[in-house]
Amino acid sequence: MSEINLNKYSRQVLFWPQGEKNQHNLQEKTVSIIGAGALGTVLANHLVRAGTGEVRLIDRDFVEESNLQRQMLFDEQDVRDKLPKAIAAADKLTRINSEVAVVPFIEDANASNIEELTAGSHLILDGTDNMETRFLINDVSVKNNIPWIYAGVVHSRAMTATVIPGVTPCFRCLFPVFEAGHGETCDTVGVLSTAVHIIASYQATEALKLLAEESDYVRSEMIQLDVWKNDYSTFPFQYSLNPDCPCCQKKTFEYLDKKISDKLISSLCGRNAVQITPNYTSSADLPAFEKKWSRLGKVQRTPYLLRLNYNDKEISLFKTGRVLINGTDDADTAKRLYSILIGN
Ligand SMILES: [Zn+2]
Repeated sequence: MSEINLNKYSRQVLFWPQGEKNQHNLQEKTVSIIGAGALGTVLANHLVRAGTGEVRLIDRDFVEESNLQRQMLFDEQDVRDKLPKAIAAADKLTRINSEVAVVPFIEDANASNIEELTAGSHLILDGTDNMETRFLINDVSVKNNIPWIYAGVVHSRAMTATVIPGVTPCFRCLFPVFEAGHGETCDTVGVLSTAVHIIASYQATEALKLLAEESDYVRSEMIQLDVWKNDYSTFPFQYSLNPDCPCCQKKTFEYLDKKISDKLISSLCGRNAVQITPNYTSSADLPAFEKKWSRLGKVQRTPYLLRLNYNDKEISLFKTGRVLINGTDDADTAKRLYSILIGN
């Protein structure tokens, strides 16, 4: 059993119903946070300061200027350095609490890798901004018996719910039909940073209850709130279990089983960027590409990626072979560039 730093965690140990025992429980746990943006940075900040054993940060993107208004672990230097969010967040978190194993993954969590990324986790936290990934997290959660905590936030409105396989209904019981959204996203109607922080703090509080093994007060209701209009409501969902739920009842995992037959191409909403992920696990030979690309435009290599400025576009090639093309939201343009610059 790991030692407790009784000075560092004194206020929390005083608070815990079972004192040091809860702290020990927390220090033995591993949490995967999918998305290190607005929600994810608040979640990670709380869990690392609290002394969780291992915190995995999974994020596919870089720090941008428009993130700083609400993504609390980043600063202007991270924007200038164009650091991957997972790396920038992990650097800061390690300075905050070096006793926690903070493990960054510069990855897009998808059907091919999410089980591997979350293997051995005691809890998964939703720091994403899209329903598709949430259904995927729900599949992994039910399949591998890992609780997860959902949260969504847009404008001044936010909601959260805790899914515990075998105990609560699952996310698909609550949201049976996949809806791509109603056009209201943080990129179209904006988001208030306080709404993000409040709902992520609710998520983090539920996380602490589960990880410290104090489940008496774990919520069996969904919270919905509007911080601007002063609305707060709860919706008990223990009776929402769908006896025909394809996920938690029939144990079919449609989102996880989606086989990626070709390259996965996705437009990143509101980012004017397209991501292309190869359908195989690969590792890109960055020095070789650097040599090839240096004839085409300005090339910059960092420990994590290679970046090329080419025809008003910025192309980033990650070590895993994933490519982000900034400067277009058109999939065909992105595919053309991919075949010119990467091949196949
Ligand atoms: Zn279900």
